[in-house]
Amino acid sequence: MKILSIKKYKDLRGKKVLLRADFNVPIKNGVVRDDFKISAGLATIRYLQRYNAKIIITSHLGKPKGEYNEKYSLKPVATRLSRLLGKRVAFVPGVLGLEAGSAISKMKDGDIVFLDNLRFNKGEEKDSKQFAKNLAKLADIYVNNAFAVCHRRHASVSAIKKYIPSFAGLLLEKEIENLNKIIKPKSPLVVVMGGSKIGTKTTLVKKLYPKADKVLIGGALANNFLLARGFDVGKSLIDLDSVKFAQKYKSEKILLPSDLLVKNLITGKISVRKADEVEREEAALDIGPNTIKLFSSYIKRSATIIWNGPMGMFESSRFRNGTIAIGQLIASRSRGKTFGVVGGGETVEALYKTKMQDYVDWVSTGGGAMLSYLGGEAMPGLEGIVRR
Ligand code: ADP
Ligand code: MG
Repeated sequence: MKILSIKKYKDLRGKKVLLRADFNVPIKNGVVRDDFKISAGLATIRYLQRYNAKIIITSHLGKPKGEYNEKYSLKPVATRLSRLLGKRVAFVPGVLGLEAGSAISKMKDGDIVFLDNLRFNKGEEKDSKQFAKNLAKLADIYVNNAFAVCHRRHASVSAIKKYIPSFAGLLLEKEIENLNKIIKPKSPLVVVMGGSKIGTKTTLVKKLYPKADKVLIGGALANNFLLARGFDVGKSLIDLDSVKFAQKYKSEKILLPSDLLVKNLITGKISVRKADEVEREEAALDIGPNTIKLFSSYIKRSATIIWNGPMGMFESSRFRNGTIAIGQLIASRSRGKTFGVVGGGETVEALYKTKMQDYVDWVSTGGGAMLSYLGGEAMPGLEGIVRR
């Protein structure tokens, strides 16, 4: 494993550095709602400043589909970044073009120029060579710090590396180093999986299964496994491809919920049911109290733990218990007895609800990218800068 880190580049003074960040953060009424990803990227920006580089920041935000849309402008992010750094950030309301060129030509060492959303340009998501070349022309070197899009073949993380010397940012480097500890785990490895975007999780289950001592499955993901074992799951969320997948995983290594918190979709009544006693009109929306105990006993014995996917529909306070209990336990074991990694869009959101996120060894900024990396899938954004 070799990472071409920006730390290995010795001559940053005065160099124009195109920094591909992942500042895809929630914005409401022109204000950043959650700056977890901005904070995570600060160390790299400070590093570049310390060595007097000229920093040109780029990112994507949402899905503007290749054309300008004010709703997806990164201006609020530039404002927040400036506040977090305590330094002026010159925002350019475009990606290429005259304004960008002129702002960059005026930069002094240590200055920051922030370009608008890469996805305003149709070339970005098409991995366009021309767009990548034009981006590359803006700078002397390129730094990829956007782990969350490294599983995508997009111009600003993929094609661009052909046209400019390319390096990994500090955050990207840390993501890889920490996720590699899951790929080569200290045993016992306990994998905790849940959530509802099931199609994206099967490769991870496949890949980690042989290394894991236990795979604890909750959330909607568990419904498919329960169904595959012949349990009636009533009106619970399932998807048939995943049921087929689950049929191949019936060993003792996979631990399913023994009880569930269900809601009767007709009467609205909420009850705890044994996993084999879910009724026809009921949907499982959280793991039950015995399952929390059962899962906890394995989490406590782990030396390495990875958690992706909430244990239930945690957005509703009535179905949050399992997710919070498991999240708290994972956090309290991390940084000590266990090496713990937590990742996934909603999983991280849930972890923050425990207020114990700072105890976890590594909270990944990559949702889908983390799953792809751990699942051993192609990572176009890493090619050339990370050798596996
Ligand atoms: P992540 O983004 O962390 O990888 P997913 O996107 O796969 O996680 O799943 C998160 C969603 O799964 C949450 O919005 C949560 O409400 C939903 N969910 C979890 N368990 C259930 C369940 N039993 N029934 C319905 N939805 C569930
Ligand atoms: Mg999600």
